[in-house]
Amino acid sequence: MLKYDSFYFQCPHCQAWLEGRNLKAELVNEAILYSDGKVLNDNLITTPQKMIMCPSCGHIFWVEHPEEPFITYEKPDAEIYSWNTWRFFGISFSDNKGKMALVNHYKTFLKKSHYDPKKEIYLRRFLWWAYNDLHRNHQHVRLKYLLNGFMSFGVWHCNRKLILEGEKLFIKNHKDFTENLKRLLALLEKHPEEQIDLEVPEIYRELRQFDKAKELLDQMGSRTHFTNEMLRHSKWKDPRVFMVTG
Ligand SMILES: [Zn+2]
Repeated sequence: MLKYDSFYFQCPHCQAWLEGRNLKAELVNEAILYSDGKVLNDNLITTPQKMIMCPSCGHIFWVEHPEEPFITYEKPDAEIYSWNTWRFFGISFSDNKGKMALVNHYKTFLKKSHYDPKKEIYLRRFLWWAYNDLHRNHQHVRLKYLLNGFMSFGVWHCNRKLILEGEKLFIKNHKDFTENLKRLLALLEKHPEEQIDLEVPEIYRELRQFDKAKELLDQMGSRTHFTNEMLRHSKWKDPRVFMVTG
């Protein structure tokens, strides 16, 4: 059974048809939530991609509200660019080169043009997540993950190498990472309606302002597993993205 419903839309510049996908909510069973707000289902990000680069002509356009008549659920009788050809600009994430290519895409978009605050928040949030992708699942490098039997030695060893390499790239780019987060934080504080869940205290934590993160979390009325975990990591002075549930 397919986990997605396909929909179709056209590039406004060259009229090429692109296939989009909507996750079927009733089939979501393996959601993983990370502290930066990124959610994965069966390893795929659930947040819709709003900025699209046409795989046919390279034109960049925004799909903020995917609604009819702009999109159709009926398969058009034409050549269609599949989801993989444009999703995350066609990048493959099997290695750190792909992950850095995504970082560089967002950086280029941000440099090239001026965006309204909503769009800039979207791009900076995705840039933040793309940097974090370099060392997301860092806990998997621990021997515990091999000994628990979650993965074979071969898979664990390969994965460990990938994450440790990614961590090096993350550290190398830390100045840019920090600049982006500071700018995102300023935008989100000015536009609180755009904030997602706990991303403001999370940004302070990742910027190593642990006391400020704790202060914001303490102000929240009800405690959840998410707030408790974030408090724990803030107390440990750990700025790295972590898995909240999964
Ligand atoms: Zn096009």
